[in-house]
Amino acid sequence: MKINILTLFPEMFTPLRESMLGRAVDNGILEFNIVNIRDYTQDKHRRVDDTPYGGGAGMVMAVQPIIDAYRENGFGGRSLYMSPRGEVLNASLAEELAAEEEITILCGHYEGVDQRVLELMNAEEVSIGDYVLTGGELPAMVLIDTLARFIEGVLASEESAMDESIYSGLLEYPHYTKPRETEGMEVPEVLLSGNHQMIDLWRFEEAVKLTAERRPDLFEKFVSEERELSKKEKEILAKYTNH
Ligand code: SAM
Repeated sequence: MKINILTLFPEMFTPLRESMLGRAVDNGILEFNIVNIRDYTQDKHRRVDDTPYGGGAGMVMAVQPIIDAYRENGFGGRSLYMSPRGEVLNASLAEELAAEEEITILCGHYEGVDQRVLELMNAEEVSIGDYVLTGGELPAMVLIDTLARFIEGVLASEESAMDESIYSGLLEYPHYTKPRETEGMEVPEVLLSGNHQMIDLWRFEEAVKLTAERRPDLFEKFVSEERELSKKEKEILAKYTNH
């Protein structure tokens, strides 16, 4: 998948070179084309923004450098503008975007971009949550990181993007690793039993308990949806549904 990024701060994207995303690039699964919008300004002082028409605080990123950067690099695919006004990112949007061959992400700064940029790029606005950041770079990396998990070959073969908190419908059960005892705290006995049926049920119950406590909204959804559950799983669920 080709991911094009238009930004004023290309150096902010170094995390994309690390860990699983870095490996996906090395393996040819992901390709990042990161372009500095400032390199395309025709302003003799290298300015990329200007004051807003109608007055008010802050500066607005101008059309010319962004559109020239976009066109001269031949960027295509779905265009996305990271913006607190946008559709809030969730798993289904990430999965949908992961199926694209190419996307172009525009990162705003200051007050944002001239509205005409969005029209020229036919950009969809995407938010990462109801709060405001200083720029679109971190939101773009959040979007890229989560959509990459849905692309075949990005996760290790035994991992599944759906076998995680939220996607499975429940928050995930607690994890433990060696040593068996640390600072007086023991690993739950059942995890050492070697009985996989009991372990699965224990994990299911922990997940149900956590979700009911922390995310009643998710829990209600989980209960109301048709699911293939064993008799024992149904009994566990009933314990937390009745009070
Ligand atoms: N004036 C804008 C508004 O009120 O909608 C906010 C501009 S914000 C200070 C600067 C840039 O950060 C935005 O253009 C956008 O690219 C990015 N940004 C800030 N918060 C974001 C969020 N929650 N989701 C996605 N992008 C965000």
